Amino acid sequence: MKTYSLRFCESWEGWRLAELRVTGLWKAFGAVEVLKGIDLHLPDGAFVSFLGPSGCGKSTLLRCIAGLEDLTEGAIHMGDRDITQLPSARRDIAMVFQNYALYPHMTVRKNMAFGLALNGMPRAEIDRRVALAAETLRIADLLDRKPRQLSGGQRQRVAIGRAITRQPQLFLLDEPLSNLDASLRVTMRAELAALHDRLGVTMVYVTHDQVEAMTLSDLVVVLDKGRVAQVGRPLELFHRPANLFVAGFIGSPQ
Ligand code: ADP
Ligand code: MG
Repeated sequence: MKTYSLRFCESWEGWRLAELRVTGLWKAFGAVEVLKGIDLHLPDGAFVSFLGPSGCGKSTLLRCIAGLEDLTEGAIHMGDRDITQLPSARRDIAMVFQNYALYPHMTVRKNMAFGLALNGMPRAEIDRRVALAAETLRIADLLDRKPRQLSGGQRQRVAIGRAITRQPQLFLLDEPLSNLDASLRVTMRAELAALHDRLGVTMVYVTHDQVEAMTLSDLVVVLDKGRVAQVGRPLELFHRPANLFVAGFIGSPQ
């Protein structure tokens, strides 16, 4: 595994990144085939969006990568590691969901520290990482609050902060902004882009919003009914859509 120093941020140095490869992935729930032969190669450090209409399998694909679903067929590699059979907790992947999932009875600080403490990390290192994440996400003044004392945007920052403290090789974000109002969504989009610039870690971002995908991403994976319709840079998809589905989806009004 290569070691990268992260762009613009010496304090995060040593955080390892990994390319992700998904090979021949099929996923069925009973008789219903949801993912039908997904092959993907995501370069390390990229901001990648999974884009497609509701029900096309975006969340299922993310959950398979995170180890929250067993694959029906196929393999997943991170760097040179085959993680197909690895339990979720050992995959070095952090996932941020639409509905924050913070612990309501814990302070922001505790929310961010809890997982690290469970893993037996020394106190001083936990404090260092929490302080660094809080500074990175501008939530240092909120550390002693409980989730109910935070706005939606602040809660989502804490959820992202909690993921950052783990220093995962891969970030998975499943429509993380869809519960926020429109103006906050625009702000948070810019913050996510800035965060990616600062950390340089691979981020996979699920959205059904083509504008969001096109503005944020280095690479967009368009999904159609459990298959990859096209993988490309935003401008490639715009100028050279592979088929009518991609053209229609990218070109449709929001
Ligand atoms: P998206 O995130 O793109 O909206 P999902 O991955 O959530 O799509 O769902 C894709 C399809 O898989 C949907 O038809 C959904 O009903 C089905 N599905 C997802 N999870 C399950 C499950 N646990 N059991 C049965 N069907 C499921
Ligand atoms: Mg979904």
